[in-house]
Amino acid sequence: MTADQAEQAEQQVASWLRAADRVTVLTGAGISTESGIPDFRGPQGLWTKDPAAAALFTFQNYLADPEVRVRSWRARRDSPAWQAEPNAGHRALVDLERAGKLRALITQNIDELHQLAGSDPGLVIELHGTMRWATCLECGLRTPMPEVLTRVAAGETDPPCLRCGGIQKSATISFGQSLDAEVLAAATRAARDCALFLAVGTSLQVYPAAGLCDHAVASGARLVVINAEPTPYDEVSDAVLRAPLGVVLPRLVSAAL
Ligand code: NAD
Repeated sequence: MTADQAEQAEQQVASWLRAADRVTVLTGAGISTESGIPDFRGPQGLWTKDPAAAALFTFQNYLADPEVRVRSWRARRDSPAWQAEPNAGHRALVDLERAGKLRALITQNIDELHQLAGSDPGLVIELHGTMRWATCLECGLRTPMPEVLTRVAAGETDPPCLRCGGIQKSATISFGQSLDAEVLAAATRAARDCALFLAVGTSLQVYPAAGLCDHAVASGARLVVINAEPTPYDEVSDAVLRAPLGVVLPRLVSAAL
């Protein structure tokens, strides 16, 4: 795509955004890379650098292998997300919401940076849960993650649930774990009930999240993919933009309001 074509595509998307009163946005790890949190599949992604890590961190391995749990707790403790601040991309979506255009903000991210940026928690649908809470896989007790990480720092390498002794895990969806049915239903409704669906910073390789694009298209919404690299949905989308999200989202939103 030439620079002229890219600029035309961006103007076209801004005009759709201006005209639309119900916009549903799906975000992925790409919106948080500019906040210092690596994605999985981008050029600097955790799995691009260490493909074996993807296979290791499945739900089944977490349950079966104490060593996987020990490594997982260390990774949670060391996550760059604890120091991360929302960036211009997150804030642009807050501006879109305040303009009354946002139907829903569906995110695959677990970092809560949308809420920290000021997005209405009532509009944010966390498809894959949140890393800021831990949950007991036996009794379901939820504990703020910093409390559990304090125990890790004090030397507990795999801290059990304080109520029942069960295995604890971050309140996130791992590979091999089902999504919460109500959360997925809310996301599907939002994908079906919009005029414009923006897929932002996601490789669209993880289902059922990526399938939300199919729901949007089948319901007659325009689909726009904004991502640094190609996705399997580029061909069925109405437009593809490839600029960095911290630059393109503020530009699009200010041109549309
Ligand atoms: P992914 O890693 O598969 O894809 C991210 C995409 O974003 C890549 O195609 C990359 O090219 C693009 N990208 C990266 N930085 C960008 C930028 N600044 N501007 C434009 N594009 C950019 O991520 P995914 O599709 O979200 O799926 C991975 C899963 O990983 C999700 O389920 C998510 O829960 C989890 N995850 C979450 C976080 C987080 O919460 N921040 C971080 C890593 C992984």
